[in-house]
Amino acid sequence: MVSWEKRISSFLHTFRLDRIKSKILAFALFATLIPCLTMGWLSYAYNKRFLQEKITQEMRNATSHTAQELQLWFKERFYDVRVFSSSYEVSENMEKIPPAPRASMEETPTLSRLRDYLKSVQKRFTDYEEFMVVDPDGEVVATSADQVGAVNLPPDWLERAINDKAIVSDAYWDKALKKPVVMIAETIKTADGHFLGVFAAKANFRRIDEILRRFSFGETGRLYLVDRDGLLIIAPEPLPLPFMTTALAPEKTQALFAKQASSLEYTDYLGRAVVGNLERLPPLDWGVVAAMERDEAYAQIVRLQGLTVVIVSVLLLGVGLIAYVLGVSIVSPLDRLTNGAAKVAEGDLEVDLPIFSRGEVGYMTRVFNNMVARLRQGRDELATINRTLQEKNKELETISVTDSLTGLYNRKHLMETLAHEVTRGQRYDHSLSVLMIDIDHFKKYNDTFGHLAGDRLLAKMARIFKESIRSIDYVARYGGEEFVVMLPETGSREAISAAERIRTRVVGETMIDSDETHSTTISIGVAGFPENGDTLESVVASADEALYQAKRGGRNRVVSARHQEKLDGGMLAMSRGLAEK
Ligand code: GH3
Ligand code: MG
Ligand code: MG
Repeated sequence: MVSWEKRISSFLHTFRLDRIKSKILAFALFATLIPCLTMGWLSYAYNKRFLQEKITQEMRNATSHTAQELQLWFKERFYDVRVFSSSYEVSENMEKIPPAPRASMEETPTLSRLRDYLKSVQKRFTDYEEFMVVDPDGEVVATSADQVGAVNLPPDWLERAINDKAIVSDAYWDKALKKPVVMIAETIKTADGHFLGVFAAKANFRRIDEILRRFSFGETGRLYLVDRDGLLIIAPEPLPLPFMTTALAPEKTQALFAKQASSLEYTDYLGRAVVGNLERLPPLDWGVVAAMERDEAYAQIVRLQGLTVVIVSVLLLGVGLIAYVLGVSIVSPLDRLTNGAAKVAEGDLEVDLPIFSRGEVGYMTRVFNNMVARLRQGRDELATINRTLQEKNKELETISVTDSLTGLYNRKHLMETLAHEVTRGQRYDHSLSVLMIDIDHFKKYNDTFGHLAGDRLLAKMARIFKESIRSIDYVARYGGEEFVVMLPETGSREAISAAERIRTRVVGETMIDSDETHSTTISIGVAGFPENGDTLESVVASADEALYQAKRGGRNRVVSARHQEKLDGGMLAMSRGLAEK
């Protein structure tokens, strides 16, 4: 294996991805997950930005409208206070009041007129809680309230008053009224411009509260006012907030004041995660804040996330299912191929796999089937060749032990068989007889009728011998015109009579060749095992000797080696007579 293949293979093994099915599944899931997550992330980022912009826009609309309204409200208040302060009722009466230090605020008609004026104005203008006239020393000269309260003017009020600038205090919690208020003051002057003091009004936030409520948005979107330190000045109901005591975290306040154009995420007074935006409210150092709970602001994104998760899950499920089916469709034929190959390896060549696909695996299966078919064919051919070889071997064997002219066993086979039989006879104490047969005057026959006729005679003799013996007996051509008959389990008496039977039959047969009638005779020497020899050679030699004796004795006779005498003189005479013919 190439090194990179090895590395990939071990890497896949680490993640248990050795199987094709797992590989396909993993690839499909990755191929789905990566674009899905990328697209999901992109769409999330895009939507979040879009939503953020939308929310920011919405909140900026709210804050800027509110800021405008609030500025208008302040403008109206300054205008009101200026109108009240420039009234002759105020300046004329103030002129008549002696400068401080005054011994006591004794009830004078001037003072009473001034107080009446303040009270009558206060009755008509419900946006104010109290009106008061303050002299340049900061002493309250007259008030619309029943009791003289604290004056909460800013530290530089006198300087601002002399320079004819608008005077406005910080918002503060009025303990007596139990509500947040702001102090607005205007200079009181005589007709010729002489400075007499200031006309101060304590304005409540009733209408500001309305304005803030009017511009609230969404489910949780609220507007409220904060000062430069993040202290809550006013928030509309139903926010149950203690005014002027709770503050935003300083860094958040700074950030809100610094980034007026964009929205921020922070934790508000109630500990809620909110998205907020601030707009400054000049000329005061206040800010109008619009804030909305983060969950509501990004609800759409949460919904989008949920939808993305559902879509990705469904996609993964679908793709996983397809990948699984694909994996199975690839692996099943491979499994079948492997099982088929295993069967072939075990020697079963009858395997023929079904082909369902046209692709590579289908092609592979077809090649496999062809291969097995070739193997099968080879096996059959080999079997045929083996059979033929066996037949040929048998034939060769037969040829090697057979005499071609007579069809009898040849001398070689005879000697082997005889040796075997003698050994068997020795071992089991069996008797055995051997007849040595020679055709009389065969040379003459050849000379007379020709060699081919001689051959025919030999074949005929062989047939006669074969027909004259038992199935357990054995006949072979010993050589030339000499034959040997072996008679197992046969004593000399039976052997002699068998020989005689053969001889008689030969004599009885008339051999016709050419136009002449010729009667052939044979001479037979009989020897027995073990009486005429206890070895193969000695038995054969005894039989040969007996045959010799038969020839010497005049031919056409049977001579037994044991007796070595003529057995059938009458037959001999007959045979001789025939032979001599
Ligand atoms: P006898 O045995 O009676 O003494 O006389 P014989 O003429 O048979 O003498 P011998 O056994 O010596 O002669 C055998 C003859 O057999 C010699 C040979 O030409 C002939 N012969 C041997 N083999 C064959 C053969 O295969 N075919 C033919 N036609 N003749 C053969
Ligand atoms: Mg001979
Ligand atoms: Mg002969």
